[in-house]
Amino acid sequence: MESYLKELRNKHLKKRKKKNPNMPIATWVQDDIFLDKTIGKSLTIILRTVGCRWAYESGGCTMCSYLMDSSPIKISAENIINQFEHALNKYKEEIIKNPKNYSIKLFTSGSFLDEFEVPKEAKEHIFKKIGELPIKEVAVESRPEFITDDNLKIIRKYIDNEINVEIGVGIETLNEKIRNVSIHKGVSTEDIKSAIETAKKYNIGIKAYLLIKPPFITEKQAVVDSIHSANECIRMGCSRISYCPATVHKGTLIELLWKKNQYRPPFLWSVLEILKEVKSQNPDKLIMCDTSGIPSNRGAHNKMDCKCNYEIKEILNDFTITQDLSLIEGALDMGCECKKYWEEFINFEEKNIVPLGDNK
Ligand code: SF4
Ligand SMILES: [Zn+2]
Repeated sequence: MESYLKELRNKHLKKRKKKNPNMPIATWVQDDIFLDKTIGKSLTIILRTVGCRWAYESGGCTMCSYLMDSSPIKISAENIINQFEHALNKYKEEIIKNPKNYSIKLFTSGSFLDEFEVPKEAKEHIFKKIGELPIKEVAVESRPEFITDDNLKIIRKYIDNEINVEIGVGIETLNEKIRNVSIHKGVSTEDIKSAIETAKKYNIGIKAYLLIKPPFITEKQAVVDSIHSANECIRMGCSRISYCPATVHKGTLIELLWKKNQYRPPFLWSVLEILKEVKSQNPDKLIMCDTSGIPSNRGAHNKMDCKCNYEIKEILNDFTITQDLSLIEGALDMGCECKKYWEEFINFEEKNIVPLGDNK
C-alpha cells in the first residue's frame, strides 16, 4: 500500500505551484470557544512550509491532500518569520485592544513542531512574539512524535503558564487497525499516550482530531468507532475533541474509492448521532465538529438534494460554539424524509461485504 500511496502522491505533487514564500497560506478571525467554555475570537494563521514529512516519506494518510498546499521550494526560518509577522501585523492592534479575548492558532497543514517544517529559530521567534501579547490561548498542530520535552520547553519558555496552550493531534481513531491500515497514519496508540503524558508535564492540552468515517469501514462501524474513540481520548486526558467528518480531497486514496463508488462520506445523521452520544456521556467536555466540505457530494451530507443539509450544517456550527446538546437532539428529532434513507442505507450496507458508495 505504501508504494501505491507514494506513487499517487508524487503524481499529484507535480501539479503544485510555486507561491510567495513570505506570505502565509491564509489568515482569518472567527468566533471561537475557549477551554474554559467562554466565547471569544481566534486568529488562525496557516503558515506555508515544505509540508508534512510523513506524506513525503510514506505517501501520507489516505484522506489527506494537505501536501498540495505546501511549498515545492525550500522555506527558510526567515520566510516563516516573515509570514507570521505579515499575519500578526494585520491583527495585532485588535488583539491588544481586546485583552484575554483572543486565541492564536498556528497551523502548517502538517506539524508545526517538526524541525523539518518550522526550524527552531522560527519557533522561538513566534512563541516569543505571542508571549508578549495579552492573549487567552495558543494552539498548534503536530504529529505525536514531535511532542517532546525539547519542543514543549521552548513553548513554555515564552508562553506563560496561565495561558492555555493546546496541541491538535490527528489521533483520528483509537482503533489502531483503522488508524494504521485504513488511514495509514503511522502512529501507534502508545505514541499518542506518551504525547499526552508529556504534554501534561507542561500544562499543555491535547486536542484530539477524530476522523468520522475513514475508508474501508461501513457507516455503522464509523459511528461506533467515533463514539468509542472520543470516550477513550477523554479518558486518556485529551483537553477537547474535534471531529472531522471525512471529505473527499483530490489526489487521495479516498478519492479513488469514491470514484469507484466504494466510499461515501458520512451522513449528517451519523454525525449528529455521534455528537449526541459523546456529549451526553461527557457533558463537561468540549466536543466540536468541523463543517468544511458540508454539504457537498465530496463532504458529509444526507441525500444530496435535501434541504436538511444546510439546516444541520448551521446547527453543527452553533453546537460547536455553544456546546448546547439540545441543538443536536432537536436536529435529530426534527426528522426529514431522508432519515429513512440513512437507516435503510446502514441496514443494507451491513448485509453487504464491502462498504458502499452512493454516487448518483
Ligand atoms: S493527515 Fe497529517 S500526518 Fe497525515 S499526511 Fe496529512 S498532514 Fe501528514
Ligand atoms: Zn433530509
